Amino acid sequence: MTRGTVLEIRPAALAANARRARELAPGASVYAMVKANAYGHGLTLAASTFSPLVDGFGVALMEEAQALRDAGVTQPLLLLEGFFDRDELLAAAAQSVQLVLHSDWQLALLETTRLPAGVRVWLKVDCGMHRLGFPVVQCGNALKRLAALPQVQVAGVMSHFACADLQQDVMSARQLEQVQQLAAGHGLPFSAANSAGLCRYPDSHGALVRPGIMLYGGSPLAGHTAVSLGLSVTQRLSARLIAVNDVPAGESVGYGAAWTATRPSRIGVVALGYGDGYPRHAPGTTPVAVNGVRTVLAGRVSMDMLAVDVTDIPQARPGDEVELWGDTVSVDEVAAACGTISYALFCQVTPRVRRVIAGSA
Ligand SMILES: *Cc1c(COP(=O)(O)O)cnc(C)c1O
Repeated sequence: MTRGTVLEIRPAALAANARRARELAPGASVYAMVKANAYGHGLTLAASTFSPLVDGFGVALMEEAQALRDAGVTQPLLLLEGFFDRDELLAAAAQSVQLVLHSDWQLALLETTRLPAGVRVWLKVDCGMHRLGFPVVQCGNALKRLAALPQVQVAGVMSHFACADLQQDVMSARQLEQVQQLAAGHGLPFSAANSAGLCRYPDSHGALVRPGIMLYGGSPLAGHTAVSLGLSVTQRLSARLIAVNDVPAGESVGYGAAWTATRPSRIGVVALGYGDGYPRHAPGTTPVAVNGVRTVLAGRVSMDMLAVDVTDIPQARPGDEVELWGDTVSVDEVAAACGTISYALFCQVTPRVRRVIAGSA
């Protein structure tokens, strides 16, 4: 018996979600966000799957942009935080990577670097998230300075929503109004929508939408399942039971004796733990499925193993398959139980988990 711990990646589902993004934002260019190894799905696999369906790609690092160019991707690339230094600016310009310009220090580097013609720049405006971007009142001046640089083409103004995923979202409307006004005032296109904006606010689509999580089958909207938004499951994390033990009432299971049997119990031991990227802080309410039947964890997650309560699944045997997230248990349910988000679960699966690509797009 091999360990049987597998992350299955589904190109057809990635493609279906890209089509869904297009369908929801028919008037905009669609750039697929493939940063962080395409949210853990594999950068080159995701890029080749999305390529016929999207207009470009977004990445966080020049290394990611370079990996796409090395893989033969010729479509537009957008560096979401811009360049980190002059060498990166030169590398981005050489590879025709579009830049996000968010700070004065970047503008100063643009002004003092000899660049080839046709460097495309999105001016990032801070409309209230207060993470990256020029304050609205400084944008006019920044655009004037950019206009004085003959090698630079301003592609548009960009902003990012702070709260578009929340059920109670009082912020997005104000953010959108600011970016729309700024863009209109300078006769420029705008880009504001992440997955949540794309799904929820058609007014936010502008010239360019930037879907990430929805392409990977995570729900971008609190209170809405991915299925209800027409999204498909792109990855399934599974492992096997390597032991099934009887535990008498009153006995405990695992480190810290954190789980105690309240009845005569059967406990399945699964060959997967936080060393594989499963969250160590997953509480006892976290769902799993054994042979397609849902149950919950029993006790603390170990590095290489975790325990599940199979008392009510009497047919459970060593060798049986356990789904940690995927079809029966959604990644969003696991994330909610663990007080985190699907994004983080996707990014945490460690390299020792065997990746299997299921079918083709
Ligand atoms: C990651 C990212 C996105 C995608 O966000 P999702 O919530 O995953 O859709 C969009 N825009 C920017 C600037 C990003 O960094």
